[in-house]
Amino acid sequence: MTVRTATLQGISASRGPARGLLIAGSPKHGGGESLTARAEKVAAIAAADAAAVDSDSRFPAEAIAAAREQRLLSVAVPPEFGGEGADISEIADICYALGRACASTAMVYAMHQTKVACLTRHGRSSAWHQLLMRRVCGEQMLLASSTTEGDRGGDIRNSTAPVERQGARIALDRSATVISYGEAADAVVTTARRSADAASADQVLVVLLKQDYTLERQVGWDALGMRGTCSAGFRLIASAASEQILPVPYDEIHTRTMMPVAHLLWSSAWAGIAAAAVERTRAFVRKARQRADGALPPGAGHLTRANASVQKLRGLIANALQRFELAADDPATLESLEFQTAMNLLKVNASELAVATVMSAMQASGLAGYRNDGEFSIGRHLRDILSAPIMINNDRILANLGAASLLSSVPASIRD
Ligand SMILES: Cc1cc2nc3c(=O)[nH]c(=O)nc-3n(C[C@H](O)[C@H](O)[C@H](O)COP(=O)(O)OP(=O)(O)OC[C@H]3O[C@@H](n4cnc5c(N)ncnc54)[C@H](O)[C@@H]3O)c2cc1C
Repeated sequence: MTVRTATLQGISASRGPARGLLIAGSPKHGGGESLTARAEKVAAIAAADAAAVDSDSRFPAEAIAAAREQRLLSVAVPPEFGGEGADISEIADICYALGRACASTAMVYAMHQTKVACLTRHGRSSAWHQLLMRRVCGEQMLLASSTTEGDRGGDIRNSTAPVERQGARIALDRSATVISYGEAADAVVTTARRSADAASADQVLVVLLKQDYTLERQVGWDALGMRGTCSAGFRLIASAASEQILPVPYDEIHTRTMMPVAHLLWSSAWAGIAAAAVERTRAFVRKARQRADGALPPGAGHLTRANASVQKLRGLIANALQRFELAADDPATLESLEFQTAMNLLKVNASELAVATVMSAMQASGLAGYRNDGEFSIGRHLRDILSAPIMINNDRILANLGAASLLSSVPASIRD
């Protein structure tokens, strides 16, 4: 299919006046302001609504509208397709800034950017996906992710529902147990079995535009934390053009992009949540010290511990970002056992450290942090961060890495 026929089949459908006001490719995205300044504007809006998003378990619509206004949804798209070519460290910093403000907004942004990375790194040879990248820029489309299926839990390397081919069209009927912001998204990027006679691990990644699918809600989202991600479960029924399948197998996409980028960006969002809890606790300890004529409260040592673990978390992520950036265009390194293990363990370690940080913050602030009311409450942060170890369960990741652990030897020196 040519770009023109893709356009005719609806990919360029207009979405109304509120979005896509700037021409994709304009060098002055966001008025020429730095990414940091633009992210801070979005974070301020996200912070103002964070409590309501949590209590009402509602999508952070205002923050995502602000992200669209600041053109943050397309910053990672290469300039040749209308984006700004932001690198992963810049995206990680945005996730961190949003995480300090509103965990759900940060996670929505992280998941969207993970899908954008799959598209930009594996869709460049396809006219359909090139056009989609331009549309993400022009219309600030929000992409959701569907990997969890039926009762397979976090076993995302296997799919049950196959892509059914009908000439140039495909059909998919999938038990999409969890799709965060599924109802608010402009497209769902989903894994699927390549065909009815393919093995469960022979998967493809398909981009489905809103007009291609219906979502029948099967289960709602009343969760302990991350309430604004609105991660409900659906039956996803879709009919689309076969060009919408990414041109490389999911196995390759997962290994080279989906897993490492998801783990880097999720970890950055979690670091933001942990840092926000530390900030609140520091304010509590300062106030307590003022009240006690300069004497530190008894729990102050836990603040020191929280500070130390957030620094460790930051170092862990920074190191992994650098590692990914160095390997990004080197398939052999990306696919190596060492790199895959490191990126999987990043998720495990970052989630555990983030939880430990928020727990230390809670211990430092005692009742002031524990209560839901009051300026020093960190109940929301604790509930949100408890999603980290279960979002692709750490136990599953550790069990999968069991055999690899037998193969890797202990380093011969500290610095190698
Ligand atoms: C906030 C949030 C947002 C999400 N958004 C999305 C989304 O947008 N799209 C999407 O597709 N999915 C999403 N998910 C789902 C996520 O990707 C995982 O599929 C899900 O967290 C797995 O949950 P589970 O506990 O049901 O499954 P499992 O991974 O099956 O875990 C269930 C239990 O089994 C144990 N277990 C599993 N495997 C092993 C093993 N090998 N060894 C030992 N123990 C094991 C675990 O410890 C756990 O107690 C989201 C999850 C969260 C928390």
